[in-house]
Amino acid sequence: MGRSDEHGKRPASVTRVAYSVRLNPGKYAALLEQARRLGRVRSEVWQRYGSTSGVGSGLRDRQVRDRWLADGTHVRFGVLANAWKETVRDAMADIAGNLASAKVEVRRAIFRRRGDPAERRRMLTALKADRWAGDPFLARQMRKHWKRGRNRTHDQIVVRSDKHNIVADGRGRLWLAVPGLERRRMVRIPLSTTVAPAGTLRLILRGGRVEVHYQIDASQMRSSQRPCGDRTIGVDKGYTEALIDSDGGHHGSRLGQLLSSESDRLKERNRRRAKLRSIANTAAGRGDHAKAHRIKANNLGTVKRDRQAARHRATVRTEIFTAVHRVVDKAATVVAEDLTRSFAGRKTLGKNMNRRLAGWTKGVTAEALRNVSERRGSALVHVNAAYTSQACHRCGRLGRRNGDRLHCTSCGVVWQADVNAAINILHRAGDPNIALHTPHHRVKQILRDRTDRHRTRLPVQDSSPATAERRANHPNRSAMSTLGSRRQP
Ligand SMILES: [Zn+2]
Repeated sequence: MGRSDEHGKRPASVTRVAYSVRLNPGKYAALLEQARRLGRVRSEVWQRYGSTSGVGSGLRDRQVRDRWLADGTHVRFGVLANAWKETVRDAMADIAGNLASAKVEVRRAIFRRRGDPAERRRMLTALKADRWAGDPFLARQMRKHWKRGRNRTHDQIVVRSDKHNIVADGRGRLWLAVPGLERRRMVRIPLSTTVAPAGTLRLILRGGRVEVHYQIDASQMRSSQRPCGDRTIGVDKGYTEALIDSDGGHHGSRLGQLLSSESDRLKERNRRRAKLRSIANTAAGRGDHAKAHRIKANNLGTVKRDRQAARHRATVRTEIFTAVHRVVDKAATVVAEDLTRSFAGRKTLGKNMNRRLAGWTKGVTAEALRNVSERRGSALVHVNAAYTSQACHRCGRLGRRNGDRLHCTSCGVVWQADVNAAINILHRAGDPNIALHTPHHRVKQILRDRTDRHRTRLPVQDSSPATAERRANHPNRSAMSTLGSRRQP
């Protein structure tokens, strides 16, 4: 994002990102046009004040605004007054950041080269007060370290806190309204989060989607709300672990053990209960109602059973919620499959795994991701997970799954299947073609087109066009047939 002050200068504040979801292309185009025009404002600011004559002479963004209003500079950008004013302020802050980092270098040079303490102090004072022009050493150092910057930002809109508003619709979706290019014509953006962005917003337009960046004051958060991390992390739901992240981290590693022992216990208990039930029925049939009653009361009751079930559920929930917290510790944005939707057949469940339990944990994981993200202020982004467990994250071809490994015959690499899937999920967040609701078969086609296109740029590596075609049509089968022969160290 290229802003030095967002993580450095204000350690008490943390950046959060919310994303637009299914934004109308017309609205996106209008926002993009506004960002483009504001990019010209930025360029103008950089050109005029991005060197010693600007901030160096102590000019404040307020003075720049007044000058522009006086000489009519602002008129030619074709944007609303508040938009260009905020942009001027933002660009001046960027320039100030640029200058501050140059000064750090110059200060080092002063300490390195000037031994006399009084002389050193004089220079440091002059530097701090932006009076370096009169001193040959300082002027030379500033020229060396303060590289004249140039604006490269043409995709951002800064919106002051009193210029936007947020409303929730009937289904609980948040809509962010920001000023457009015309007065009183707000652009309404549907958001993927349930936490309302607040304060000054930075809208970044990328790939048909709006990223809404904003700051949270970490010191004002309740202590129970640990701040989230600052990275974007992809996660995949595992079976032996609750979550695997795109760094290769495994979280909630006890989950598989908890589920399979519960599954075993239930099987054993049901078998025993069936046997007792049959003994009781036989006794009743014989006329021994006392015995039948005794068995039902002592051995077939529901109190203990329900208590054990509740305890098991609580243990599993804790394991899953803890796993999500571990991920949010490092993530400002968690990218995940929408686990409330069911993609039949994305993964085959292990033989010994109780499917009912697995289905239930999926629901708990979805709940934990939503709940923890809301409480800790991270964004949860849902992506289309079709083929993420089969495609190689490096080349995009469908590999061959073998237990917890994924063989990519094209790269000649064996990936850890779950980590590979988490990385694919992370990449889906920025995928320009694969949207949340892109159909399964279409995703496959897109992946295939990409690897085909990639292959045509490479020197021929397949023996014949027939092989290439067969591989394109049946990537999985082809991967299996060539496995081993194409592996590289
Ligand atoms: Zn590959």
